[in-house]
Amino acid sequence: MEKKKKVIPVSEPNLTDLEREYLIDAFDSGWISSKGKYIELFEQKFAEFLGVKHAITVSNGTVSLHLILLVLGIGAGDEVIVPNFTYIASVNAIKYVGATPVFVDSEADTWNMDVKQVEGKITKKTKAIMVVHIYGHAVDLDPLLDIANRYGIYLIEDSAEALGTKYKGKYVGQFGIAGSFSFFGNKTITTGEGGMVVTNDDELAKRIRKLKNQGNSETKRYWHDIIGFNYRMTNLQAAIGYAQLLRAKELIEKKRLIASWYKKHLNHPLIIHPIEKPYCTHSYWMYSILLDRSVGRFRDEIMQKLYHEYGIETRPFFYPATLMPMYQNLADEDFPVLMDFYWRGINLPSSTKLTYDDVKYVSSSLIEVLNEYIR
Ligand SMILES: *Cc1c(COP(=O)(O)O)cnc(C)c1O
Repeated sequence: MEKKKKVIPVSEPNLTDLEREYLIDAFDSGWISSKGKYIELFEQKFAEFLGVKHAITVSNGTVSLHLILLVLGIGAGDEVIVPNFTYIASVNAIKYVGATPVFVDSEADTWNMDVKQVEGKITKKTKAIMVVHIYGHAVDLDPLLDIANRYGIYLIEDSAEALGTKYKGKYVGQFGIAGSFSFFGNKTITTGEGGMVVTNDDELAKRIRKLKNQGNSETKRYWHDIIGFNYRMTNLQAAIGYAQLLRAKELIEKKRLIASWYKKHLNHPLIIHPIEKPYCTHSYWMYSILLDRSVGRFRDEIMQKLYHEYGIETRPFFYPATLMPMYQNLADEDFPVLMDFYWRGINLPSSTKLTYDDVKYVSSSLIEVLNEYIR
């Protein structure tokens, strides 16, 4: 097979003349800091896109989680239920407010938090369940909403990886008390760095706006009655974000198209494809596969070969949070499902700029490398 010279990245921003036009417009207007028309346009359009009342821009998807936990009054002595398999930001945000993360094992097929185990983790101290729609597959939310209602606790959606993902026909992020999005450079839409809090709760939205803006009093200038933060997004970032959002449907459709190409071309007995449960419309932020257990231990070697010999960049799955030094002491169980798959997971190139031929090339290259391991 002819090998490519260029590197196929795992992800890359998909920016067009539209993003450039709005960015330059924001620049030329002089409104380059955190006031300006694009902040409002981005927030309004995002709320409309998702079907929520409020969308509030923030400087990244980590502080958006921090703000949500803060306004819900979650703090020292409280517990928040969270998947052990997530990007570390979800867990760190819980620690920022002084609360304790309570980890849940994964489902073997969706890799999301095992919904069936959540109720068993609830104690008198539990204040919230933070779900994470991992790699773009929706968590089964109905049973969790039921639990949250019965116990009087909050459901928070870390939807950083799931813009465009639907749960039973509606976009995720809107099901709990609040949802959080990230616009980091590798996310489905990007502002470079950036995030968004969404909620249908008027009072919560008001408090988040105040908290992200140094706790400014609404009536008295330079008066602060709470300790706030500077978690604002700039108008420059919002200009890019607004343009990205106008293209979001196109980008999400492209992600799904790429997934369909992988499903067609990446057929190998040692590869397990991601699933799409009936309740979910996957947005395939990252097209993610598992290697069969028989070759799983060669994962890193396989990824190295793909990179050095074929110019294909891939990513390993996240490590379980409880393997990290700061969370090891919170591993109160073995997490058998997660421990069985995280080490053989690979995120394949998932950029919306990929062509059909790129995906065919990645697929045939991976198959070629895998065949070296079959004797
Ligand atoms: C990307 C991401 C975040 C937030 O990331 P930022 O880089 O702070 O925007 C939070 N949670 C998950 C699951 C993520 O993937």
